[in-house]
Amino acid sequence: MHIRALYSNFCNTCQVQFGAYHCGICNLWMSDEEDPYHCSECGFCRVGGRENFRHCNDCGMCIDIQLFDDHNCKVGKYMSNCPVCQEDLFSSRDASHEMPCGHAIHWHCFRELTSYDTRCPVCKKTAETPEHMAPTWQAMAMGIALQPVPAELARVVTIMCNDCEQRDDDRRWHFLGVRCTNCMSFNTTVEQTTMSGREAAAYLDELDRTRGVGDNGTADGSAGMGAGTDADMQATDGGNLNAEADDPMDDDL
Ligand SMILES: [Zn+2]
Ligand SMILES: [Zn+2]
Ligand SMILES: [Zn+2]
Ligand SMILES: [Zn+2]
Ligand SMILES: [Zn+2]
Ligand SMILES: [Zn+2]
Ligand SMILES: [Zn+2]
Repeated sequence: MHIRALYSNFCNTCQVQFGAYHCGICNLWMSDEEDPYHCSECGFCRVGGRENFRHCNDCGMCIDIQLFDDHNCKVGKYMSNCPVCQEDLFSSRDASHEMPCGHAIHWHCFRELTSYDTRCPVCKKTAETPEHMAPTWQAMAMGIALQPVPAELARVVTIMCNDCEQRDDDRRWHFLGVRCTNCMSFNTTVEQTTMSGREAAAYLDELDRTRGVGDNGTADGSAGMGAGTDADMQATDGGNLNAEADDPMDDDL
């Protein structure tokens, strides 16, 4: 049995080392794998490497140095629980991260979360920055352009954007999602279906003609499709049930 001497990192009897990291203020020994450091303003030891954090006196928290200049200071922001593991954020040794919506979360919980969901668990806004999401949104716009909804399954919908909170009506529904034309996010919810079936398809085609663009979030050309190509694709709708459309449709209904 090893006996740790008070305020020393070594065993009294055999000099076995208890942990490579020792904080004399906290009287803490731990492995240095997680890069622990003592923050005098926080008043205890955190992990993640001193060089990667800067303490913010307003937030009362050690902030990731790369995010420091852009972070929204709010007193008491970290006096909350992590929305994933429910642990108190301030007293937890693990690094915290602030999502674009302003909600705080453990950095490691954030990485776990974004592997299966890109939305903040608290407010459902997109948890990653618009720059980070751009390739994902672009891939969705491509998927929509490649899989037009058959005319008999067409729907005219009103959407609400979870990110910019803009409502938009007369939009073409798609089982992959409907893009917000204001902030280009696909994090939208369908609030209402105002028309469906062939009537809806004809109405949407007419809208596209007057708008001069497709309604798949392609107005900015990000899906790489011009209005002409879009119209050509829609012309092939004529009664052909798109087999790929079946499964996701059922899930959504
Ligand atoms: Zn010993
Ligand atoms: Zn310490
Ligand atoms: Zn600190
Ligand atoms: Zn701050
Ligand atoms: Zn957590
Ligand atoms: Zn949030
Ligand atoms: Zn939006």
